[in-house]
Amino acid sequence: EESVVGGEEYLFKIVVIGDSAVGKSNLLSRFARDEFDLHSKATIGVEFQTQVVDIDGKEIKAQVWDTAGQECFRAVTSAYYRGAVGALVVYDISRRTTFESVKRWLDELNTHCDTTMARMLVGNKSDLENIRDVSIEEGKRLAEEEGLFFIETSALDSTNVKTAFQIVIRAIYDNFK
Ligand code: GDP
Ligand code: MG
Repeated sequence: EESVVGGEEYLFKIVVIGDSAVGKSNLLSRFARDEFDLHSKATIGVEFQTQVVDIDGKEIKAQVWDTAGQECFRAVTSAYYRGAVGALVVYDISRRTTFESVKRWLDELNTHCDTTMARMLVGNKSDLENIRDVSIEEGKRLAEEEGLFFIETSALDSTNVKTAFQIVIRAIYDNFK
């Protein structure tokens, strides 16, 4: 590819974590294929999807990993985290328990990954404003306390999904160059 200048190649592994049914798989399918599934079942099989993005004219491959349903068993393995340089920690703005779990997911992340990795707190399902259970301010505050980027997204109506991944990829890129 002529866009690869000087033989530089960027492949960034990004993990998506968070409680079951917060919308991790749909965020990924929205990002990688612009698809949404209202009746998505716990993910089986698909480990990751690769999406090419352009940052400063550089072709970057974002290899985004999905937990494949392991989150039900608190059994996301170290192989899942290995080599990851970015993470999206996702909760569902309409289910407070998923927000309360974020600290535990961050503990997991800190156990397995370098703390310099690019990390983004993602409040998904922003389309469910009428049954919101976690305020934007609470999300922002937690992100500030923990040193994370913060964004609210909707995999359903596409709001901020690309932006969330782009911010993380840009931060990783800035760490590397
Ligand atoms: P996962 O277990 O975290 O991978 O969650 P899924 O992506 O499988 O989504 C769980 C359920 O939430 C599915 O019924 C999705 O259709 C639904 N869902 C995912 N994202 C959104 C969203 O942004 N808004 C709404 N309203 N529903 C969503
Ligand atoms: Mg899933």
